[in-house]
Amino acid sequence: MISSGFLLRPCKNFIKQSYKHNWIKPDGFETGIQVYNCITEGKTPLILKNKQLITWYTCGPTVYDTSHIGHACCYVKLDVIQRILKSYFKYNIVMVMNITDIDDKIIYKANQTNTLYKDVATRYEKEFLKDLQDLGVTEPNIILRVTENIELIIDFIKKLEDGGQAYKAKDNSVYFDVKHYNNYGKLQNIGDQMIQQEQNDFKKSSADFALWKGSKKGEPFWHSPWGTGRPGWHIECSALASHILGSNIDIHAGGLDLRFPHHENEEAQSCAYHKTNQWVNYWLHTGHLHLKSAEKMSKSLKNTISIQEMLKIATPDVFRLSCLMSHYRSNVEYSKELLETAENLLKVYKNLLNSCDDYKKGYLKATINTEILTQALNDAYDNIHRSLCDDFDTPAVIKCLNDLVSVTNSMLHATVSSNSDGGLYTVMGVANFVSNTLSMFGINFESKTHTSQDFTEIMDILNTFRQNVRLIGVANKDQEVLKLCDNVRIRLRHLGIDIKDHAKASSWSR
Ligand SMILES: [Zn+2]
Repeated sequence: MISSGFLLRPCKNFIKQSYKHNWIKPDGFETGIQVYNCITEGKTPLILKNKQLITWYTCGPTVYDTSHIGHACCYVKLDVIQRILKSYFKYNIVMVMNITDIDDKIIYKANQTNTLYKDVATRYEKEFLKDLQDLGVTEPNIILRVTENIELIIDFIKKLEDGGQAYKAKDNSVYFDVKHYNNYGKLQNIGDQMIQQEQNDFKKSSADFALWKGSKKGEPFWHSPWGTGRPGWHIECSALASHILGSNIDIHAGGLDLRFPHHENEEAQSCAYHKTNQWVNYWLHTGHLHLKSAEKMSKSLKNTISIQEMLKIATPDVFRLSCLMSHYRSNVEYSKELLETAENLLKVYKNLLNSCDDYKKGYLKATINTEILTQALNDAYDNIHRSLCDDFDTPAVIKCLNDLVSVTNSMLHATVSSNSDGGLYTVMGVANFVSNTLSMFGINFESKTHTSQDFTEIMDILNTFRQNVRLIGVANKDQEVLKLCDNVRIRLRHLGIDIKDHAKASSWSR
């Protein structure tokens, strides 16, 4: 669950230096990538268990309401990292996600709306998956629902109880015994005695957390060795992720607010279950999304904007670019200005690709300094590689792209009368590089080169005809002919086709 407004936090009055938990450097294959590690509180090399395969688990949503742009930001940022690993570094990622389809909030919503909890969950799961699709987020390979896997969750808890790591309390709930696990607090680098979780009278210690919740009157329940009840929230991810990905996972991801208590608890109970000191090798956490001059966006604060509302004013590419403009670990300050900045930047890239196309077709005359442009292209390649290896630093990548675009534009738009020899392959090299880099992030332009062949040919014929008629009009100073040409240009603009008149030619773009 992401950005749920979970309010439990570690106590603040701890001496941080007193508790240094060890991160165990995995045995395996170096990737050349450095990632931020919340346990060491610094960047560490990303080492994979398998040469080419990455096992990845992302915490999915609690499906009780419409997803908001805070969720969108988290899932788009994680999608970008996965695309970098897949498309740029050529790794094969197996991605697993859970759907929390039974939870206090779902039951509350069902009671409020006088519907079945299952109907609430089904409705919002469908919405969530459509939101991901609309945002261009790649669907996980495997999605597991809690209610379809109750047996394996019970087995997981039973093994913890048998191993002395969990106990049944008088409220018929089962709690994880934090005192019997000696590495609690490692994701925050604090000690277990400093951590308090949800208070109740039945737990041995305030740090303990529920694995199984004894049923309350009127709530959905399942039978278990401890009586009727349902799983706690944290246990589902440990049981489901372990079921598919085993006792050691490369990457586990989610929003920053999941680090405590959710991920801390997941790691603790999974290490206890697998009898290991490290279940997850790398925890990736995305920053929060804030409204400008507001607190974090969450349902509890009643200041949410739904994904579909946002998509009415921004395309998925614009939103994705606005996410790329900040580091995945940084908070995003959402505003209309942010979307406008991303939209304008997207136009800059589109215009560059169109100008490269115009240059190729001879509509645009330019003197290309091949040596300088090739050097700029090589620099961009090296700098972008370095930035991607440095904890997936997408804002640095965007800056490199912008520098390259700026150098290319300065050459393409300097006034000259003929094209220079040897410039075309360099210009096309820049166009390919910019387009491929954005495409690697999941931004694909529907440029002229990507439209259907028929449409392109028809537009070329229409453009050439209009261009010749217009040149006759200009030569004869025939205002009526020029007005007719202008009308065609205006009407095509309404269809999203932009005609540009140059001194001796006209060009078109979508
Ligand atoms: Zn989880």
